[in-house]
Amino acid sequence: MVRRGWYALPDANPDVVRAVASGAVLGCVSALVYYGVWDTGHPYLHVFRSKHGRRMPPGKIGWCRPVHVDRATGSAVVSPMLALRQAACCVEPDDLVVLLDSVINTRLLTRQEIDEALTGLASHVRTAISRMDLAESGTESLARLRIRRLGVKVKSQVRIGGVGRVDLLVGDRLVIEIDSIEHHTSQSAYHRDRRRDQILTSMGYVVLRLTYEQVLYHWDEMEALILSLARSGRHLARVAGPGRASQRLRVPKLPLDSRPIRFERANRSTAGRLDSDDGRQSRSRGG
Ligand SMILES: [Zn+2]
Repeated sequence: MVRRGWYALPDANPDVVRAVASGAVLGCVSALVYYGVWDTGHPYLHVFRSKHGRRMPPGKIGWCRPVHVDRATGSAVVSPMLALRQAACCVEPDDLVVLLDSVINTRLLTRQEIDEALTGLASHVRTAISRMDLAESGTESLARLRIRRLGVKVKSQVRIGGVGRVDLLVGDRLVIEIDSIEHHTSQSAYHRDRRRDQILTSMGYVVLRLTYEQVLYHWDEMEALILSLARSGRHLARVAGPGRASQRLRVPKLPLDSRPIRFERANRSTAGRLDSDDGRQSRSRGG
């Protein structure tokens, strides 16, 4: 018995058992992860407490921020729609976009169900919905959001003739692929990735492969690299022939040198750090 009236089978999900044992049920981002959504990483288990639950949960468990739902649930895990509504009130804006991308990618909810689940919430939630896009991983979503913030045009999951879909296309011809160990380390994946790179290069694309760790823990260095390629204009030239991207982007109207000052500053500071021996990331990250 986990708690009065609740029993767990031997193979029960340990997060669910912990949530129920605490007097609550699994909710918010922890419930979304249970349903297969990308884990944005949280230091504690997010649980949803009915009005009969105990006041203080034990250990690394946290009540989520209040959400405008106050009803007991008969399940040990809240529904996907309620979990998303709770998460929208609980996580940072970028993490919410990552969750939304993943909810769509895993087909956990339809676009209509997402709208229904998030109706009536604060304006930043509507903004997150508008920033939702195709992505096969959370790292891909994060990279897209951060590159867009630099003022550089980027598209997700672009189909290129003769190659298939690439993760991100920056400008016209800078292809960014984000490689997880899970999907890119087998021998067949190793050969497939190199063949794709060779074909893309022969078509005039510039290919940049980023690892999971580089996106999550060394983004400043990756940002400097992307900005340096963008400043040199290597992302802009047209790609001719059948390999042209089917969702090819427009060339930005402003030349790079007349972009907003923030773009210039970001480039100088990060490019300088790339050349230094000090690999620490000291620049504070602005919005
Ligand atoms: Zn939460």
